[in-house]
Amino acid sequence: MAARKMRRKAAAPPPAPKKKAPKRPVAPRRRRVRRTVESDRLYARAKAKMPGGVSSPVRSFKSVGATPFFVKKAKGSILVDADGNRYVDYVMSYGPHLFGHMPKAVASAIRKALPRGTSYGAPCRAEVELAERVTRLVPSMEKVRFVSSGTEAAMSAVRLARAITGRDLVLKFSGCYHGHADSFLVAAGSGLATLGIPGSPGVPAELAKATITATYNDLESVEALFRKYPGKIAVIAVEPVAANMGVVLPKPGFLEGLRKIADREGALLLFDEVITGFRLARGGAQELFGIKPDLTCLGKILGGGLPVGAYGGRADLMAHVAPDGPVYQAGTLSGNPLAMAAGIAMLDSLTPAAYAKLERTAAKLEKGMRKVAKELGVEERLTLNRVGSILTLFFNPGPIASFDDVKKSDGAAFNRWFHGLLKSGVFIAPAAFEAMFVSTAHTEKDLAKTLAAHREALKEAFAEG
Ligand SMILES: *Cc1c(COP(=O)(O)O)cnc(C)c1O
Repeated sequence: MAARKMRRKAAAPPPAPKKKAPKRPVAPRRRRVRRTVESDRLYARAKAKMPGGVSSPVRSFKSVGATPFFVKKAKGSILVDADGNRYVDYVMSYGPHLFGHMPKAVASAIRKALPRGTSYGAPCRAEVELAERVTRLVPSMEKVRFVSSGTEAAMSAVRLARAITGRDLVLKFSGCYHGHADSFLVAAGSGLATLGIPGSPGVPAELAKATITATYNDLESVEALFRKYPGKIAVIAVEPVAANMGVVLPKPGFLEGLRKIADREGALLLFDEVITGFRLARGGAQELFGIKPDLTCLGKILGGGLPVGAYGGRADLMAHVAPDGPVYQAGTLSGNPLAMAAGIAMLDSLTPAAYAKLERTAAKLEKGMRKVAKELGVEERLTLNRVGSILTLFFNPGPIASFDDVKKSDGAAFNRWFHGLLKSGVFIAPAAFEAMFVSTAHTEKDLAKTLAAHREALKEAFAEG
């Protein structure tokens, strides 16, 4: 049972639906008790040498009152843990794996690049080729600088915005996450919220004061800050679709409004598209909603599962970046040839058919989840937000348009749901305010398994409520 070979049909189109015989819900499989012996051993060793036993806090399962499993391998839509348990994976490394784990094109690009070396400290062809692709797909990015993470991208973009405008204040939205740079660890969404941390100690008070927070989907809250700090705000930083407080869509007019306010006030508009870039459309949320930001941050999908981030924007703005201009920013591993090769393969795989498949699969999952909730008579206690291939089930009635709405979610019910899914072999982020990531690798069979698990897990979620 342990290392059963993973089989997955490569993106076979779903069979044409027959007209009659509405499908009966798949009977839930009998659950075996999950074996966790190996993961528990690894966790004990990890805890002895690493804070919380993890390299990133959410992975610890602390917020769901459990201990983590350790991954042995991953392919397509499936994760296998150290004890041989298999999970349909909706975490997908928190976003990079648009085509599931180890899609052929990316794996082969990395394999091809490997014999040529792993890092040079000098420019290489792959950087040029990836930069040409990024600027073609995201036209507001006339020039781009590669870095190694989303955090680095957001941090560098803010430095640039401050330098260009000669202003210090950063306006962000409560519940939006832009990585863990000091300027952004204020009201920063899921990671902190689920651990009950409002900001972070270690951020100098003076610096924290330079970050001011508005309410997502509330233009008046933005106007109020500009009235309070006239001529002082360098940049409005926003996730054009918020995905780090769970998925929260921008209301019609919200992003347009931000564009107008930034123009009127001489501030820059920064879209943090680390999650939405290449996911919601080839050109990201800015293509989907038709808004042109001044600066954009990318990450996650851009690296195809290897560490890559990028920031970019209008050429006249990027001209301030060293060595063209005075704004310093550098990186030993930036433009890493393996990561660039993975990124190129990733971007070259972004076909209309891929987006159509993502939409079909995610829509089917949404529909199925809603149907189950309705059949169990609990749909009014839930809100499901989805855009394209990211979705979140909130355990409170909607609409959910801001972090204040998100915070009303029933955390205990979420935890029971999470554990119910996990028991049945479905892995979602171990925190209430995250997105589920659908990939093109998720199959009909995965969906059936997920919905059967969802049915049992929802019953458990509401058993005590
Ligand atoms: C993940 C994320 C980041 C940070 O990226 P890292 O690679 O984890 O540093 C920044 N912004 C958004 C919107 C993200 O989702």
